[in-house]
Amino acid sequence: AEQFQHKKILILGLAKSGEAAARLLLRLGAHIVVNDAKPYDENEQAQQLEKEGVPVVCGGHPLSLVDEGFDLIVKNPGIPYTNPIILAAQEKEIEVVTEIELAYLLSEAEIIAISGSNGKTTTTTLVYEMLHGGARTPLIAGNIGTVACEVAEQANADDVLVLEVSSFQLQGTTSFKPKVSVLLNLFDAHLDYHGTKEAYVQAKAKITANQTEEDLFVYNADDPLVAAVAATSAARLLPFSLKRELPEGVSCQDQVISYRGEPIIHTDEIVLPGAHNIENILAAIGAALSMGAVREQIVKVLTSFSGVAHRLEFVREVNGRRFYNDSKATNILASQKALEAFEQPIILLAGGLDRGNEFDELVPSLKNVRTLITFGETKHKLAKAAKAAGIETILFAEWVEDAVKKAYQQSAENDVILLSPACASWDQYKTFEERGSRFAEAVMALNG
Ligand code: ADP
Repeated sequence: AEQFQHKKILILGLAKSGEAAARLLLRLGAHIVVNDAKPYDENEQAQQLEKEGVPVVCGGHPLSLVDEGFDLIVKNPGIPYTNPIILAAQEKEIEVVTEIELAYLLSEAEIIAISGSNGKTTTTTLVYEMLHGGARTPLIAGNIGTVACEVAEQANADDVLVLEVSSFQLQGTTSFKPKVSVLLNLFDAHLDYHGTKEAYVQAKAKITANQTEEDLFVYNADDPLVAAVAATSAARLLPFSLKRELPEGVSCQDQVISYRGEPIIHTDEIVLPGAHNIENILAAIGAALSMGAVREQIVKVLTSFSGVAHRLEFVREVNGRRFYNDSKATNILASQKALEAFEQPIILLAGGLDRGNEFDELVPSLKNVRTLITFGETKHKLAKAAKAAGIETILFAEWVEDAVKKAYQQSAENDVILLSPACASWDQYKTFEERGSRFAEAVMALNG
């Protein structure tokens, strides 16, 4: 921690992680300056930090800042590398990192880092739950709620820090070296941020880039891009696969999940629905067992855990209809996974922010959907896709609550009623959590 004492550090972009990094570095004796795009008058965070004696610069990112002799810049992951101030800093060879680099530098605990395009939060939560009652105390942080560097500073050497990390965060690392890293899949390439698919893959590959043979890389052997990352890794490898039996890895054959050839659990006992969740489970078992998890605890988690909120989360059964909240499915791929998770007839609730795309790719996944109830900016586009899929009943709703009522009226026993919007929520709701909570409340309010 002494490494930051008297260092001159620029915090670029506040939000939750910037504020946490600012406070932490202040405690560690660094000289920090905070720069945030939000104007000073509206910027409560900056005002508060200023009261605590931190110089703040608000309302933009003036390039002159990089001439002030900073040793380090801690960048909010949301600020792209194409931002002129980052380019200027790079020209001056000032190191630019995200707060997970700080987390790594400060943590006495060993780190399990989990990344991928989809499934991060679910897998991170599973690993954390599976580690309870094991050799070490698990702590959870990262994208998932608590800021990583904050938790890292408090962690002890016999804890284990389970971190959800995004490609944005990974791109801003230089020495980040998790004891165990997990890469789930690589598809949604965030091209707007990373520029090219190669740049995106390279950013994700940083999860294992500094690992050595004393570390472990748990990776999806079914995903060619992920397997290509594994081929460049210097870590010990633990592959997982849904498709092939892996005597040296984690796999699922004839519905039995095995770890290095040893059976762990039958998939019938698992509460989480969907093949994609089996992938997350394979990865989680691999990571957890390699960090001293107890088998009984793993089985206990898998037989009881009903999902992270808003991620294909089972909400309630009403008169034989099962309701699932997958509000986090803000893109087509996520909704495809949800739709593939069920064999029963589905009443799908979908729609939201219009990003200008069509929903043709969704059509094949709609085969079990009997009724579509759609809302938000994309409702006509989704109705068009539903028609192309031969769905007979297509209804429009204003809000997710109306959609729940309509869905229940339309439903029959044994139906799955699924909120999986395939769109972001911002046209109607502040967050996907708000949309999902409204859904869940409406479901709880139904008279069963
Ligand atoms: P993330 O944190 O990466 O966004 P989540 O665990 O929150 O991932 O899951 C988000 C959505 O992504 C889920 O609702 C599901 O539809 C989809 N998903 C989850 N796991 C996977 C996976 N392994 N492969 C593909 N899609 C997945």
